[in-house]
Amino acid sequence: MDNQFDIIILGAGIAGASVAAHLAQTKRVAILEMEDRPGYHTTGRSAASYEPNYGPKPMLALTRASAPFFKAPPEGFADGPLLVHRPSLFLEAEGQEAFTEKLLSASAGLEEISIAKTRDYFPVLRPDYAKRSFLDNHTGDLDVDLLHRGYLRLFKVAGGMLMNHAGATAIEREAKGWRITTPQGKFACTTLVNAAGAWGDVVAKMAGVAAVGLTPKRRSIGVIPIDYAGFEVWPMVTDNAETWYAKPQSGKMIVSSADATPVEPHDAYADDMAIAEGIERLMNATTLEVTHLDHNWGGLRSFVSDGNPVVGYDPADHGFFWLIGQGGYGIQSAPALSRTAATLILDEDIPADVAEAGLNLADITPARLRSL
Ligand SMILES: Cc1cc2nc3c(=O)[nH]c(=O)nc-3n(C[C@H](O)[C@H](O)[C@H](O)COP(=O)(O)OP(=O)(O)OC[C@H]3O[C@@H](n4cnc5c(N)ncnc54)[C@H](O)[C@@H]3O)c2cc1C
Repeated sequence: MDNQFDIIILGAGIAGASVAAHLAQTKRVAILEMEDRPGYHTTGRSAASYEPNYGPKPMLALTRASAPFFKAPPEGFADGPLLVHRPSLFLEAEGQEAFTEKLLSASAGLEEISIAKTRDYFPVLRPDYAKRSFLDNHTGDLDVDLLHRGYLRLFKVAGGMLMNHAGATAIEREAKGWRITTPQGKFACTTLVNAAGAWGDVVAKMAGVAAVGLTPKRRSIGVIPIDYAGFEVWPMVTDNAETWYAKPQSGKMIVSSADATPVEPHDAYADDMAIAEGIERLMNATTLEVTHLDHNWGGLRSFVSDGNPVVGYDPADHGFFWLIGQGGYGIQSAPALSRTAATLILDEDIPADVAEAGLNLADITPARLRSL
């Protein structure tokens, strides 16, 4: 049958595209995407930052292990840089001492700098806003579109098939695999990879697999015009309690109140109130006067209870592989996470550099979320 594959991946966001690129080198692989193009949901809505000191422990390991790829991708992968240096400032505002301790306990390469020096980087900062300031010089802006397209190109060159407008509407377990019904017809495979982002638990239930308790959380981003010479090189700036962040992007500035409102999976839109709060906090921290919003967007960051990603075969079904729960770190960790997931799908050892970076499989296995 033409629609028979070794592996079918549900979802063509960064998670599905990147793992597919690896798997297609040796297996017959298809990606089935619900929308009419890949990257329409969370992947197309990120802040595009590389922050190796941001995220839970497994994400720190995976993000740090992804740096070599971002800095030097394989020949022909992308026709421009994937990562452009932009420092980050972590500011301890009044009452945020405990958040600073938490940040420092897991961080690497942060440098505490004076408030005067902080204002050299970010001249609009009010001198009395922050008590302490930490500079991360290992951060930057990612080109998400280039990264995503690069993986999809690798996948197609290796013979992989991407089918858009092919969301799974029914998933049946058969003796040796799966039968998946979509608006484009039926497809069959031995191994099913759940890379459906916010819809991760929806897909699992459709396949008769127990859910892991995935919660999509909305985050809203406002884009504001800035009239300040040289602002394009300002760092990414956040407070240590993560109540707001802002950074220059494409000739304007993005700002967020770092909202994380639990919602059902859907085509997300921005929350106006959350954006207004972000702007107010930015104005409270700086001398910037924001008079209007250029545009905005919203996206879903999806988490399970411990905040770690869910990566591995379901403990009750060795044909169903989870690749969800990347929260707000799924782009910056994709190169290492996709290599790791591919080895796990193929029942191989995880890459040595990822293990050395500190990834502990017990922290990401779906089994940790079940009492079997
Ligand atoms: C506002 C915001 C800012 C962010 N900033 C950053 C950042 O700076 N750095 C960073 O690393 N990360 C960031 N993230 C997080 C990052 O964007 C995500 O972790 C990542 O995009 C998740 O990718 P994904 O492929 O799992 O999900 P998605 O991109 O959502 O892909 C899942 C795909 O599955 C498809 N699908 C769903 N159901 C089905 C079905 N039944 N059948 C077939 N297909 C299906 C969907 O259509 C979708 O295309 C941010 C996220 C948001 C919202």
